[in-house]
Amino acid sequence: MTQQPSTRLRDTPVTVIGLGPMGLALAGALLENGHPTTVWNRTPEKAQGLVARGARLAGSVADAVAAGPLTVVCLKDYATLYEVLDPAGGAVAGRTLVNLNSGTPKEAHAAASWAAERGVTYLDGAVMVPPPLVGDPGSVLLLSGPRGVFDAHRATLASLGDPRYLGSDPGLAVLHNAALLGLMYATMNGFLHATALVGSAGVRAAEFAGLAVNWFLPTVVDATLVEQAPGLDAGHYPGELGTLHMNLNALEHIALTCEEQGVHTGQPRLMREIAAQAIKEGHGGSNYLAVFEVFKKAVEPDAR
Ligand code: NAP
Repeated sequence: MTQQPSTRLRDTPVTVIGLGPMGLALAGALLENGHPTTVWNRTPEKAQGLVARGARLAGSVADAVAAGPLTVVCLKDYATLYEVLDPAGGAVAGRTLVNLNSGTPKEAHAAASWAAERGVTYLDGAVMVPPPLVGDPGSVLLLSGPRGVFDAHRATLASLGDPRYLGSDPGLAVLHNAALLGLMYATMNGFLHATALVGSAGVRAAEFAGLAVNWFLPTVVDATLVEQAPGLDAGHYPGELGTLHMNLNALEHIALTCEEQGVHTGQPRLMREIAAQAIKEGHGGSNYLAVFEVFKKAVEPDAR
């Protein structure tokens, strides 16, 4: 099917299947941007607010998908995608699905094959913001799959946020989603653990947050992570300004301080273990980023 880029953003009809918190936000952003919007959900009552704003509630999935060339699917997971879309039979052929549930790259590849078998053009994706931020121009939406399909629908997808194309491998969007969420949880845990540690001396979170963030962003994020990222690609970790041995010492002090203060030691102990492993592998004279060499490898099944 030849896809033409959408030039008149607001005229493009879009169908949204799945009206959980995220689907409701996606459909709401489409309506906000003037798209004729058709919706379907297992529990149709959830569409009431959208219908009041001008959406059409389809009576079946087949009817919903038939309403226009582009269907955005936002259900719980891939298994639900098949459960909901399979009964639509041939109605999906020739349509484009943009599937935004989270999952794994293997599941995304299987969904792309499922779509190809039914004559469906398919983009896999992930929404990187909570529902209230959907539709903001800076809200990142990750997409992967055929470039031409992305280009054809980029203008429409821009009604949902900032669509970023990651490549033709359909698994790339959920892979990036898992990587970025891992970064988010690790960072939040780091902040929460640090807050618990100063909290052991009566320091309030609201007092500590400004100091922590104003130190963390320029010193760690910009000067270390952004500036030294090329070193990660090159496997080059010069230790002139500080070695991994020195960092292991610092990690040891964090763990001991936690013990002294009576707060949880699991996270610092794990960081210490990973740094010690990198030293065991010969990186003791490198800088801290050499722990990247440990992270790049799989672990034994019992250590997963
Ligand atoms: P969710 O609870 O993950 O999904 C709810 C949707 O799935 C509803 O439309 C629900 O229908 C449908 N559903 C579940 N089981 C079904 C079944 N057996 N048959 C038919 N429909 C079924 O809620 P969500 O927050 O909207 O999330 C949707 C996707 O977006 C998820 O993959 C999530 O990871 C991703 N996401 C969510 C957020 C967020 O903050 N909410 C942020 C980023 C990404 P009913 O309404 O009938 O139950």
